[in-house]
Amino acid sequence: MVDGLRRRLRGLLAAPVCLLCAGPSAADLICSGCRDDLPWNSPACLRCAQTLPTPPDRVCGDCLNASPMFDRAIAALRYQGAVARAVQQLKYNADFLAARWLADALTETIRARRQALPQILIPVPLHDSRLRRRGFNQAQELAKRVGGALNVPIEPLWARRTRSTADQIGLDAAARRRNLRGAFAVDARVARLDVALLDDVMTTGSTLNELARACRRAGAASVEVWTTARA
Ligand SMILES: [Zn+2]
Ligand SMILES: [Zn+2]
Repeated sequence: MVDGLRRRLRGLLAAPVCLLCAGPSAADLICSGCRDDLPWNSPACLRCAQTLPTPPDRVCGDCLNASPMFDRAIAALRYQGAVARAVQQLKYNADFLAARWLADALTETIRARRQALPQILIPVPLHDSRLRRRGFNQAQELAKRVGGALNVPIEPLWARRTRSTADQIGLDAAARRRNLRGAFAVDARVARLDVALLDDVMTTGSTLNELARACRRAGAASVEVWTTARA
């Protein structure tokens, strides 16, 4: 906490210092050296963004076996080292400077692929009880910056959790899916729209898959998944 606070203050008071190495960083929150050293998620599965051992990007065996409910997932970084620490700082210490550079890495990744942008961006919702406890939704914080940079409107109220799902940690894939069935309700205004769902981290993808299913059921034309990191 003290570390996070110190880093935040440093970021606010002495702008041209890299958040990761404390070296000089003229324009950005992290310096170009640290940026180059980030664990960028490439090569990765074209469908689910799972990290692949060797290039090129292609569809992984899991997706060939069973297609996910979303059309494609983009994850900017791998969930390790400085990236994992930043995600945790954001979630548990409200480190919004971490949110900014994580969001910028995602924006950069989306821009680099030079494809049509979705019409709306929906951050993965937290259940009300968790939102009250945490005070903010980290996915929404990330979405605000990414949506702002790419000029894609965000609609945080179009998806909600209809019930609180027990913690997914420790459940196997089948139990995760059972646990999440019917956990989301999506606004009928997504009908015929190209939608991107945004979250901080994609782990097994079961949460995003279930939300994508709800978007499809509500009539979305296409559903992409954008996350800052892939575990
Ligand atoms: Zn640096
Ligand atoms: Zn895949």
